[in-house]
Amino acid sequence: RKWVYTFGGGAAEGSRAEIDQLGGKGANLAEMAAIGLPVPPGLTIVSDACGLYYKNGKRLCEDLKAQVLQGIAGIETATGRAFGDTSQPLLLSVRSGSRTSMPGMMDTVLNLGLNDRAVEALGHHSGDARFAWDSYRRFIQMYGDVVMGLDHEVFEEILEDEKARLGHELDTDLSAVEWQHVVKLYKEILEQELGEPFPQDPHVQLWGAIGAVFSSWMNPRAQTYRMLHSIPEAWGTSVTVQTMVFGNLGSTSATGVAFTRNPSTGAKELYGEFLVNAQGEDVVAGIRTPQSITEAARIDSGSDKPSLEKLMPEAFAEFETICARLESHYHDMQDLEFTIERGKLWMLQARSGKRTTKAAMKIAVDMVAEGLITEEEAVLRIEPSSLDQLLHPTIDPRVERHVIGSGLPASPGAATGAIVFTAEEAVEAEAEGRKVILVRVETSPEDIHGMHAAQGILTTRGGMTSHAAVVARGMGIPCVSGAGTMRVDLRNEKLIGMGVTLTKGDIVTIDGSSGQVLKGEVPMLQPELSGDFAQLMEWADRARRMTVRTNADTPGDARAARSFGAEGIGLCRTEHMFFEGDRIHVMREMILAEDEAGRRAALDKLLPMQRSDFTELFTIMHGLPVTIRMLDPPLHEFLPKSDEEIEEVANAMGLEPGFMRRRIDALHEFNPMLGHRGCRLAISYPEIAEMQARAIFEAAVSAARETGAAVVPEIMVPLVGLRSELDYVKGVIDRVATEVMGEAKLQISYLVGTMIELPRAAIRAHIIAEAAEFFSFGTNDLTQTTFGMSRDDAARFIPTYQKKGIIVQDPFVSLDFDGVGELIRIAAERGRKTRPDMKLGICGEHGGDPTSIHFCEDVGLDYVSCSPFRVPIARLSAAQAAI
Ligand code: PEP
Ligand code: MG
Repeated sequence: RKWVYTFGGGAAEGSRAEIDQLGGKGANLAEMAAIGLPVPPGLTIVSDACGLYYKNGKRLCEDLKAQVLQGIAGIETATGRAFGDTSQPLLLSVRSGSRTSMPGMMDTVLNLGLNDRAVEALGHHSGDARFAWDSYRRFIQMYGDVVMGLDHEVFEEILEDEKARLGHELDTDLSAVEWQHVVKLYKEILEQELGEPFPQDPHVQLWGAIGAVFSSWMNPRAQTYRMLHSIPEAWGTSVTVQTMVFGNLGSTSATGVAFTRNPSTGAKELYGEFLVNAQGEDVVAGIRTPQSITEAARIDSGSDKPSLEKLMPEAFAEFETICARLESHYHDMQDLEFTIERGKLWMLQARSGKRTTKAAMKIAVDMVAEGLITEEEAVLRIEPSSLDQLLHPTIDPRVERHVIGSGLPASPGAATGAIVFTAEEAVEAEAEGRKVILVRVETSPEDIHGMHAAQGILTTRGGMTSHAAVVARGMGIPCVSGAGTMRVDLRNEKLIGMGVTLTKGDIVTIDGSSGQVLKGEVPMLQPELSGDFAQLMEWADRARRMTVRTNADTPGDARAARSFGAEGIGLCRTEHMFFEGDRIHVMREMILAEDEAGRRAALDKLLPMQRSDFTELFTIMHGLPVTIRMLDPPLHEFLPKSDEEIEEVANAMGLEPGFMRRRIDALHEFNPMLGHRGCRLAISYPEIAEMQARAIFEAAVSAARETGAAVVPEIMVPLVGLRSELDYVKGVIDRVATEVMGEAKLQISYLVGTMIELPRAAIRAHIIAEAAEFFSFGTNDLTQTTFGMSRDDAARFIPTYQKKGIIVQDPFVSLDFDGVGELIRIAAERGRKTRPDMKLGICGEHGGDPTSIHFCEDVGLDYVSCSPFRVPIARLSAAQAAI
């Protein structure tokens, strides 16, 4: 098979279509060579060879070696130099290149081909012995580290000692003879430490370097990076072997990096840096301060060092032309690496440039205006999850971060405040106008009021669907959850992380977009939702098929979601209403009542509260669909847990603490998530469902009268597995509906549907659809029940699974297409067979996750529903999925 693709001299065997095999670097070098840009000739070994290398016990196969040698013969013809030659040596760079860029994660070897004889020839040929010996020592240092495995610190130490001995400050102060001595020391230490000499045979060097680049695919840095970015191990890296060009051949040589537009603002201006007389890694290493490429940027920065534009006007002019050419070729902003060797410009890399969300928006909108891309392409250009950066305050990327811990990026945005450890303290602080971060080991429904009052939430335990994470996302409050490396010492009111101890009242900043916890206050950037953002969202809305609803439990959520463009409510978790204010007391009265009469008495008090909530939701949504779910959580979630709390609550309610404890013990469940919850509650206590249904219909009547808009409540029954369960609860709802409509003398259309949260419900969807008028996929529970993994405990082992490559993505974050997804497919298909026009939606956390939304489009769902702050992300993702 073909392992090697060559490029250079105005031609190339590959193109960007083969990026999976050639990697980003190889594909774009081929592309640039093919359109006639000055690219040093080279070859790329395909990434499949990486897998083969490992399969063969880390050996390169003969077929591949033969093809590499053949490719090198071509390079020799193109350059007029010969590999291994001692008069006109061909020197090579050997670099990695994966399908998506993994900056700095893998290894590189430069100046390959040098040895004791070739170095003399290079000096002679270039007329610069100092350059030749400097290149040789760089090569030994890189090769010694990357291929032979001697830590680069060892070489750095030798160099520092030599500089001190010679009284030099900079590397550039060393002469040819002095570098020659450093080379001697390097070779000695290698032989001494490793027991083998530095290889003089260029072919040995070449195979060693190629093997080392393949090996670096599995180094811990690259593995971690892949885990963080969900990059499969099976992809492997390609290897590009390319003719060296030298930016360190004196004052007419230079090397630099540039963006074709400004990557932080998006402004249409060339933006970059370069160094005279330097090799590529010097720019990145930050030892010398690079100079601006354009004169305008130089003036802006106030630097007195000349710009490339002034210093090398011809090379600059050519570079500018190439930038324009590449933008019109790729139709995107490019990130470029170049080298100027004695006045001659060479392009070493082009790739789509990383940019801030703000820049991405501006560039996309500008490029539509410039006729470079279509509106749909502009919509496809924006990474949906990056909108988080726009919708919340974010940490100013220019400031230094003092990180003291990190956890999961559970709810985006950054927040600063004084540390408090209890919900009560957070509420007090809010009343006094103080900003606080609520720090807990984990949160429970009782903390809701404190979570509302805080600027942000930090927990040391719990995953992406933990209580803290779900509630914070719903409220649009930044949250870092499961910061396991940090410790909360409640007794002494301390938060401890990375050797730093903070006390209650100390200022802390959390970054819910990265999961970082920072000491002190940090400058922030504020969100901006007009201009380019609004334009792109308009294009996105035009392109999408699915509608986007929101999960909203309170009027505040509903209003925020409307402002973000939600087209209805897909899930109102009614239980959250019971935690507000005094309601929790009435709720507890209901739960602790010993008979139906007692429960009904408490429910009568809850009814007007629920009714007013629903009226408000219907009014805000003004005729848009509103899906209300019947009570779902097990009742003990509403009761106090610790002895002190039990005592306090019992006293407040005028009950015996002993009595209360007995009731709590009676409600105890071994496995509450699979226990007495969901529709099972409505079946055991139909009076609860009755009260809720009455509140919904009475609210619908009054909202319809008030707003004049038709209110169509969609009532949803949770955790149904059997059709007979739904029949029973639907019976209660229908009966109450008839009663209320009779009393009000007003017809209200309504739907009764079910959540699909259990594998049984998915499989029996055709039967359940006989009773259900719609389905909403509750993928949090469906993931939990399909995997048999507790959503509250999975965070303890999922990271291990990811590290060991057992799963790539946390299935509670991104839908498991193969398993949970298959159940959704089955349910959608079977449900629609029974009821072809049945509305299908999703309201689990996956409803706001871009890749899961693509899946929903594939399956043909009618809508996705997500927390308010994710609504724009969902609108954009749904558009991308439909394009
Ligand atoms: C679900 O299970 O996906 C769902 C939306 O319900 P909850 O998260 O409230 O259990
Ligand atoms: Mg659920």
